[in-house]
Amino acid sequence: MKLHTKIVIGLVAGAVAGILAYTFAAGAPWVRWIGDNVAGPVGQIFLRMLLMTVVPLVFASITLGVAQLGDIRKVGRVGGRTMGYFLLSTVLSALLGLALVNLVRPGDGLSPAVRDQLMATYGAQAEGMQAGGTVKFGVDMFVNIVPRNPVQAAANMDMLGVIFFALVFGAALTMIPEERARPLIKVVEALGDAIVKVIDFAMKLAPYGVFGLIFVVTSRFGWDLLGQLLKYVLVVLAGLFIYASVGLSALVRTFAGLSPRVFWKKVRPSIITAFSTSSSSATLPTNIAVAEKELKIPPKIAGFVLPLGATMNMNGTALYEGVTVLFLAQVFGVDLSFGQQAVVVLLSVVTAIGAAGVPGGSLPLIMVVLATVGVRPEAIAIILGIDRILDMARTTLNVSGDLTAAAYVARTESDWDPQSVTA
Ligand code: ASP
Repeated sequence: MKLHTKIVIGLVAGAVAGILAYTFAAGAPWVRWIGDNVAGPVGQIFLRMLLMTVVPLVFASITLGVAQLGDIRKVGRVGGRTMGYFLLSTVLSALLGLALVNLVRPGDGLSPAVRDQLMATYGAQAEGMQAGGTVKFGVDMFVNIVPRNPVQAAANMDMLGVIFFALVFGAALTMIPEERARPLIKVVEALGDAIVKVIDFAMKLAPYGVFGLIFVVTSRFGWDLLGQLLKYVLVVLAGLFIYASVGLSALVRTFAGLSPRVFWKKVRPSIITAFSTSSSSATLPTNIAVAEKELKIPPKIAGFVLPLGATMNMNGTALYEGVTVLFLAQVFGVDLSFGQQAVVVLLSVVTAIGAAGVPGGSLPLIMVVLATVGVRPEAIAIILGIDRILDMARTTLNVSGDLTAAAYVARTESDWDPQSVTA
C-alpha cells in the first residue's frame, strides 16, 4: 500500500475515532487519558520529527539554491519574482476575506451572552498569548530580519533570520574562488541528502502521527461552540475554498501555464500533511518532495522558493486574519471605516509574512492587529475554542499557495515545461 494511502486512512480513522469519543464519552477521563498518553504523544513525536528537519533543510536548500543559481543578479531576479508573486497572491486573498466578511457580517448575530461566556472561558488563554506577541509595526520589523547571531536564530526557529543568513552565505559562496567553495558546497549537499533521509524516517510514522493529531483535535474540539460561531466559521471556510478553487487555480493557469485539475491532483500529499499538522514548516519537506517528484520542478527552484514560501507566503492566514479581525470588531460593535479596513488588509499581509509556520502561529499577531485598529486584543478569546479546525484549513491553503509560486518561478526562470506534468 502506498504511504499516501496509509496517511489518508490514518486521517479518516483518527477523525472517526475522535468524533465517536466526543459523541459518546465527551470529557470522560479515559478519553483524556488516551489523548494525553497515547494519541497526543505519537502525534507530537511525528510533528517534532518533521520540525526537527526544518532548520537544516531550509539552510541547506536556500544556500544550495543560491549557489546553484550562480550569478548573484539572477538570484536577485528570481528572488524579486518570488516576492512579487507572494505579495500578489497574499493581497488578493486578504481582499477576498474582507469582501466576504463585510457581505455576510457574521459578527452581528452573536448574542452578548455567548460573547461574554466565551470571553470568560478563554480569556486567560488569550492573555497568555499576548505576552508572547510583542511585535511592533515599523522599521524595526525589517531590522529584526537580520539576525545578530545565526546560531541563535536557528535555535529560536526564527526562520526569517535563518533564511537571511542562508541567502547571504549562499551568495558569498558564489563569490569566492570555485576550488575553495566546492568542498563546502559538497558538504551542504550531503547535509541536504541526509536530511531528506531523516524526513523519510519521519514520514514512516506519518499514518500513526496523523491519527494521533486528528484524534486529539476531534475528541477535544469545541463542537458545541461550532454552532454558535457557525456563520464566522463558514465565512472563513468559504473564503479559503473560493480562493483555492478560483484564485489559486486562475493563478496557476495564467502564471504557471499548468492545468488547475492536474495541479490539485498532484499536490494531494501536501494538502494531507498540512491539514493534519496545521504547520507550514512541518509540511515543507513534503512540499519540496511534491514539487520535485510530482510537479517535476527543478530542485534549485523548489529548494529556493518553497522554504521562503513556508515562512513568508501565507495566503490562507492573510484571509483568515482579515475575516477574524473584522468579525471581532463586529462582535464588539467597533465600526471600522474604509481606511481602517485598508489598514487591516495591509497588516494582515504583513503579519502573514511574519507569522511562524506552526499551529496557531498567527494568533499572537492577530492580537496586535486588533489592538492597532482599536479592538481589545483579548477579544481573540471568542474564537480560540474553534481555531484548530480553521488552522488546518488555512494551512492547507498556505502550502498550496507556495506550490503555485514555485510553479510560476520554475516556468519563468528555468526550462521547466508545464506540459511535462500530466495527470
Ligand atoms: N498554522 C499556520 C501555518 O503554519 C500559521 C497560522 O495561520 O497560524 O501556516
